Amino acid sequence: MTDRTSELQTRLRALGLDPGPSDGIYGPLTEEAVFDALDLWEAGVAAPVIEAAKGIIPSEWLPECSMQRIICHWTAGAWKANSSDVAHYHIIIEDDGRLVRGSYSIKDNVNTGDGRYAAHTKSCNTGSIGVSLACMADAIENPFNAGKYPMTAKQWEILSTVVAELCNFYGIKVKPETVLSHAEVEKTLGKPQAGKWDYTRLAFDPTTVGAKECGDKLRDEVTQKLSMPMVAAAEVETTASPEPPTA
Ligand SMILES: [Zn+2]
Repeated sequence: MTDRTSELQTRLRALGLDPGPSDGIYGPLTEEAVFDALDLWEAGVAAPVIEAAKGIIPSEWLPECSMQRIICHWTAGAWKANSSDVAHYHIIIEDDGRLVRGSYSIKDNVNTGDGRYAAHTKSCNTGSIGVSLACMADAIENPFNAGKYPMTAKQWEILSTVVAELCNFYGIKVKPETVLSHAEVEKTLGKPQAGKWDYTRLAFDPTTVGAKECGDKLRDEVTQKLSMPMVAAAEVETTASPEPPTA
C-alpha cells in the first residue's frame, strides 16, 4: 500500500471514474480506471464532462437488446427497495436517489413467453423497461394523501436522468407511447390497468395533477436532459472501446 496509489484513486474518483476504494492497492479496478481516464483524455473529453459521461446507470445493467418503451412506476412501498420490488422492476430509485438493480435483466423483457421477466405492467411487459420509485405506501389519490413515504423531489430528479440514459442507450424516442407512467398506459396504449394511479400526483409538487400532466412533465424533463451535452457525451463513453489491460 502506498500513499501515491491512494492519491491516484482519489483523483480518478474525482473525475467520475471508479477505481474502487482509496485503499492504496493498485488492483484491477484502479488499473481499469486509469485506462478509462486515458481513453477519455485521448477522445478529448474535458475533465468536468467525464463524470456526466459515465452516466448514473452502471453499464452492466444495460444489456444490448431491442426495447420499445419505458414505463415509470412507484412501488407503493417504503423508501427502500424490498424483495418484491426487485422482482418486478428493472431499476428502483430509493428516496435518496440510490439506484437498485432488479433481479431480472432488461433483456428478460424482450420475450416474456418463458415467464421469466420483470412483471411491472399488466399485458404490457414485452419490450417494456420498468423503472420504479420506492415510495407511496398507503397513499390515497382522492383526497390526496401521500402517506408516510411520499415521493421525493430527489427521486423525480434522478428518474428523468435514468430515463434519458435509457432512451439514449436503447434508441427510444421520447413520445407519449414510448416514455410514460403506469397511469397513462390504459388510455395511451389501450391496456386496462385496474385504476393504477402512478403517477397522477407528485407529492413534492401539488400543482401538477393528472396522468397526462405528470407524464408531460416527465417527458419535458427527459427531453431537456437528452439535449444537454452530458447525455450526448455518454456516446463517447459507449463507443470508445478500451483496450483490455494485459496481464
Ligand atoms: Zn405501476
